[in-house]
Amino acid sequence: MQSTEEAIRSVVQEVLSQLNNRGGYGSASSTSQRDGDWGVFSCVDQAVAAANDAQKQLLNSTLEDRAKALEIVRQICDTQAEELGRMELEETKIGRLDHKIEKLHLIKSIPGMEFMKTEAVSGDNGVSLTEYAPFGVIGAITPVTHSLPTLACNFINMVASGNTLVVNPHPGGAKIACEGVRRFNQAIYQATGLQNLVTILGTPTLESADAIFNHRGVPLLCVTGGPGVARAALAAKKRAIVAGPGNPPVVVDETADLENAAKSIIIGAAYDNNLLCIGEKEVFAVDSIFNELMSAMGRHGGYQLNDQQVAQLTSLAFSPPTEPGGHAVLNRDLIGKDASVLAGMIGVSVPAGTQLLYGETDTNNPFVPEEQMMPFVPFIRCRNADHGIELAKEFEHGFRHTSMIHSRNIETITKMGRIMDTTLFVQNGPCGAALGNGGEGYGSFSIATPTGEGVTNPMTFTRFRRSTTVGHFRVI
Ligand code: NAD
Repeated sequence: MQSTEEAIRSVVQEVLSQLNNRGGYGSASSTSQRDGDWGVFSCVDQAVAAANDAQKQLLNSTLEDRAKALEIVRQICDTQAEELGRMELEETKIGRLDHKIEKLHLIKSIPGMEFMKTEAVSGDNGVSLTEYAPFGVIGAITPVTHSLPTLACNFINMVASGNTLVVNPHPGGAKIACEGVRRFNQAIYQATGLQNLVTILGTPTLESADAIFNHRGVPLLCVTGGPGVARAALAAKKRAIVAGPGNPPVVVDETADLENAAKSIIIGAAYDNNLLCIGEKEVFAVDSIFNELMSAMGRHGGYQLNDQQVAQLTSLAFSPPTEPGGHAVLNRDLIGKDASVLAGMIGVSVPAGTQLLYGETDTNNPFVPEEQMMPFVPFIRCRNADHGIELAKEFEHGFRHTSMIHSRNIETITKMGRIMDTTLFVQNGPCGAALGNGGEGYGSFSIATPTGEGVTNPMTFTRFRRSTTVGHFRVI
């Protein structure tokens, strides 16, 4: 006999293959799309109203239909990863195709309804039931660095807990986000009759984001992005779950396994050309192993730039602050470019397979304080582990996002964990391990840092509700 999960999976496979056989989904470039078709709207009020209607439908439908909707998003991301990943790279022009595709495959492991809890307390006075209820329509702001993966991940978490969502995507990744929304909604409708579980602004602007922030039909926000949008969400007049920026430091001490440290730094920092908010952005290595670590980097796909080449790249990647004491200004044209492209810009030809550029700098180099989001990582020489931890603390800027250490000394590891106080703290592995990619635990594309919810999951998007029966229902 088929289990319920198997039955749901085969219904979903059938629906997706029918859609494929019929010539597929309405494409983003299709001129026949009308406003509102399959959840893509030009007007915030209409997008919110449709998501509100959808949430009512969702609450009146079966949990089996909800499970089908989640399975559809998982299967579309998994089976169409190659096509959708390519579309995302073509539109955004940042990152790496292999990782754009891998990120979509990872969506199948994002937690869904199995994370939902109901708690009961039974005693002389009867029974109390605690259920975790939805908020309603959640306003989601998504980044250009992982446009469709963030939307799909937010969908699974939010719909699993009975919410629907209205999305204001980054304008640079809006086409692929809309394409995903159309595909999800079309297949979900086919399989369940539910419409518009996710709605999206086809032409997002700061004004449309602001309208969502202030909309009475949107009781909760979930914002994934950099400092500007994180500040705006924290200033909003409603609750916001904020997945903000990071600048993750790595400390390597004299007890570390240097081959593993180098390999891990390359895996993490080269991932999607260092677009990940959790990605290794600067390395503080103790003097006694510094040169050995630099050599090990070269054996795992890194290419070391000399001082002059680092200076050339720095002057292309940043312009000086516009005001005294201000930040260096990141040249956004270099974000997410391949290591070979960055090297080519300074006249360096790197061997095929080079994933990451690296070089020695001091802490005055803007690559250290700024979140560069490109595959160059500065290495800073430290007197000892304490000095490395002190600098890591300074340059993480109190975001309390992510930090890494490579060490076999449990006292040093414990000390760094306590001092950094970051949401994610990885020891002896690449950053992705903290999100289940090579480490234990579940993943997410929205890591709520300043607001403290951490690695978001379906329970993040719920309200606590208690139902108490006095004197009855206790069966023992
Ligand atoms: P971004 O801040 O430029 O844009 C993010 C989103 O916010 C976009 O949809 C954008 O249109 C919108 N936005 C920007 N300013 C806004 C404002 N003032 N009001 C309303 N909306 C606004 O970031 P990005 O380049 O798309 O993404 C990279 C940044 O996001 C990095 O800083 C990275 O660390 C961070 N990020 C964090 C997480 C996390 O889980 N914590 C995940 C991914 C990315």
